[in-house]
Amino acid sequence: MKKNPRLDIYLDKIRNNSENIKTLCSKHGIKVVGITKGCCAITEVGQAMIDGGINIIGDSRIENLKGLKKAKLKAETMLIRIPMLSEVDRVLDWADASLNSEISVIKLLSQEALKKKILHRIILMIDLGDLREGIVPDEALQTVSEIKKLSGVKLIGIGANFCCISGVMPTRKNLTKLAKLAEEIENNFRITLEVISGGNTSVLKLVEDDLIPDKINQLRIGIGILLGQDDVRLRNIAGTYQDTFILTAEVIEVKEKPSLPQGEIGRDAFGEVPVFHDLGIRKRAILAIGKQDIHLNSLIPMKKEVNIVGASSDHLIIDINDFKEEVKVGDEVKFRLNYPALLSATTSKYINQYFHRKEKK
Ligand SMILES: *Cc1c(COP(=O)(O)O)cnc(C)c1O
Repeated sequence: MKKNPRLDIYLDKIRNNSENIKTLCSKHGIKVVGITKGCCAITEVGQAMIDGGINIIGDSRIENLKGLKKAKLKAETMLIRIPMLSEVDRVLDWADASLNSEISVIKLLSQEALKKKILHRIILMIDLGDLREGIVPDEALQTVSEIKKLSGVKLIGIGANFCCISGVMPTRKNLTKLAKLAEEIENNFRITLEVISGGNTSVLKLVEDDLIPDKINQLRIGIGILLGQDDVRLRNIAGTYQDTFILTAEVIEVKEKPSLPQGEIGRDAFGEVPVFHDLGIRKRAILAIGKQDIHLNSLIPMKKEVNIVGASSDHLIIDINDFKEEVKVGDEVKFRLNYPALLSATTSKYINQYFHRKEKK
């Protein structure tokens, strides 16, 4: 019997998503970096991306890249969170390339790479308005000239990011800025930049609509592959599956209870004051899973008559009053996951993972 709660992972669907997004991007001369951070870089998922034709895997945590390297996946690795000074050594060991924006870190990467007799590849991040990582465009030439003086590191390109902190959307206009800046750097230093890394899943729409500037030749795609979604535009990506990860939790109590709590309302276990609506007596079930394992708001019941009422650390309450079938203790309830739930479900050590793939012919 499978152990609950559990996450069933459909590797063929993830491979299909990788393949279709790769095909779309190739038509526009764009290479896809498969980003695994949304599922803590599960090795099998990384392999499914590779099976789908992707040959660079990126993650924000060096531990995740180390796991993939140790599992001997046949892909280049890219650290996509700008490195901590204190992890430079490990970055050189486990990442073939990294995104960077601080010259002090790049200098240390250079020094340590020289000691290790390796060449580390660097993409310089440019802030195009989302105000997360990256240097301002005006400082690009100065920073590039400093990087070019260093050995042990090679500037392979520039990159940008959108829709991460401020929700600033990628547009043809701001991606053209990135492309122009790349040209300026190339002309100024008489070099060719191998990589112009245009952003994440939110940029795919511009590829589909043929609005992506020619010069952009790499995208870093996580959620689009893992969940087939563009969560910025709340749409599914054509040719992808969304039911790639299915969470199952087990019923441990079924009772009819009033929908209004009895007694004075104070704060709940997470310091919030809950609000209730009186719907009379309702049939509810408790599932053995909780906020320690999942992000509540991004959990989607597979049966539409099932509604989430709330959760504490270890109990999730669902309303099953409108559900036609009988629900009893020991039954399983299934959910699809949006990004935050996928992130927490794969981080929780209490959720058991089961992999599904068609037998190879
Ligand atoms: C998370 C991340 C991505 C991938 O974002 P998705 O929306 O999951 O495609 C790409 N680049 C950077 C720098 C990131 O941090």
